[in-house]
Amino acid sequence: MTSDLSSRDFDAAHLWHPYTNVADPGPMHLITGAEGVWLTRDDGGQMIDAMSSWWCTIHGHRHPQITSAMTAQIDTLPHVMFGGLTHDPAIELGRKLVGMLPDGLDRIFYCDSGSVSVEVAMKMAVQYHIATGHEDKVEFATIRGGYHGDTWKAMSVCDPINGMHGLFRGALQIQHFLPRPSVTIDQDWPEDPVGNGLAALSKLLIEKGNRIAALIVEPVVQGAGGMYFYHPEWLKGAKALCEAHDVLMIFDEIATGFGRTGHLFAADLAGVTPDIICLGKALTGGHISFAATVTSREVAHGIGNSEAGVFMHGPTYMANPLACAAGIASLSLLEQGNWQVQTAAIEEQMRAELEPARTLPGVCDVRVLGAIGVIEMEGWVDPRIAHAKAVETGVWLRPFAHNIYCMPPFIISPDELSRVTSAMVDLAKGAA
Ligand SMILES: *Cc1c(COP(=O)(O)O)cnc(C)c1O
Repeated sequence: MTSDLSSRDFDAAHLWHPYTNVADPGPMHLITGAEGVWLTRDDGGQMIDAMSSWWCTIHGHRHPQITSAMTAQIDTLPHVMFGGLTHDPAIELGRKLVGMLPDGLDRIFYCDSGSVSVEVAMKMAVQYHIATGHEDKVEFATIRGGYHGDTWKAMSVCDPINGMHGLFRGALQIQHFLPRPSVTIDQDWPEDPVGNGLAALSKLLIEKGNRIAALIVEPVVQGAGGMYFYHPEWLKGAKALCEAHDVLMIFDEIATGFGRTGHLFAADLAGVTPDIICLGKALTGGHISFAATVTSREVAHGIGNSEAGVFMHGPTYMANPLACAAGIASLSLLEQGNWQVQTAAIEEQMRAELEPARTLPGVCDVRVLGAIGVIEMEGWVDPRIAHAKAVETGVWLRPFAHNIYCMPPFIISPDELSRVTSAMVDLAKGAA
């Protein structure tokens, strides 16, 4: 059936958008192009992508080094199956990842999206324990306020109340939820285990550690679960407790990976190497969907030397060469680039420019870490206010829950960043 609806009406009538009411999708900007930090709308207007298109486009949109690598790859080998076959893009990207990741994380499983990389990590943890004779270790521990994706197993470790998946509670496996680490990154770390929150983990592991396969967390920064920055010492303590109870530790660095916190990985910031790490989002600099789950030799060979031998997972588009090419180019930019200088400058400027929002009515906190800036409101912020303001201020923001936040591309200029911070402060004024 053909349709004579206008583009915008067809979109409203037929296309699902993420976390948007399909019966009443509300207004939508139609984007016709993008370059650097700028998005162009069909009305010719431009706006700064202060979201990095959901935290991915760290080098900006349509970066020439990434697009030319992808173009060359399309002309050579856009795709080939990865079963029994391999190719240079997968190998070259693997070399770069092994070089960047904390020592010991060097067995790479490529997959299609962040949620899938979480599924793979959780499955790896369970299969590792089966392989080592612990068939009962099939449950997971996590902390409140987390977000790990939208697929089934990932949903089971998202915050059970505020995690967007509360609706499915009855259909999800029950996992073990610990309180969110209450000590923030800006506070002093108390050694007392009750005060620092590690007593709760210790108690859980003593009582139920023999059934727990892994502790999965977003290290230091909880993203879509509330933009919360907790103390990295919690992770050190948690790692030691997990080791004592033969529980693996999974870091979901899909949001924090590749420089976002001002450190290459939050694992570096914490000085903790997990057993499994999930990577996604900025892996291709936001040019194409891709992800990876990386583990240690011990976990990989534990699975490999078991009766099953093979790890029971293998996506059709595993290690897609086009995505690998984008990943190589993006990681090369990180290797040569001055992401450290850029994220430090963004952090400093955001601290200065967002601080005035602290005293506004309705604002309960202002916090900044690396290239992440947050104004937390007492009340719920309607994303439609930001939607309308984007045309006026020229800044694309997408607040959620109580948070007006930005995660700009690292290449943003000081002038452009000032436009973002003033748009955020304006929104806070409007939202109170
Ligand atoms: C975005 C995100 C995911 C899910 O990634 P998708 O690519 O959307 O499936 C998982 N974990 C964290 C921490 C994320 O930020």
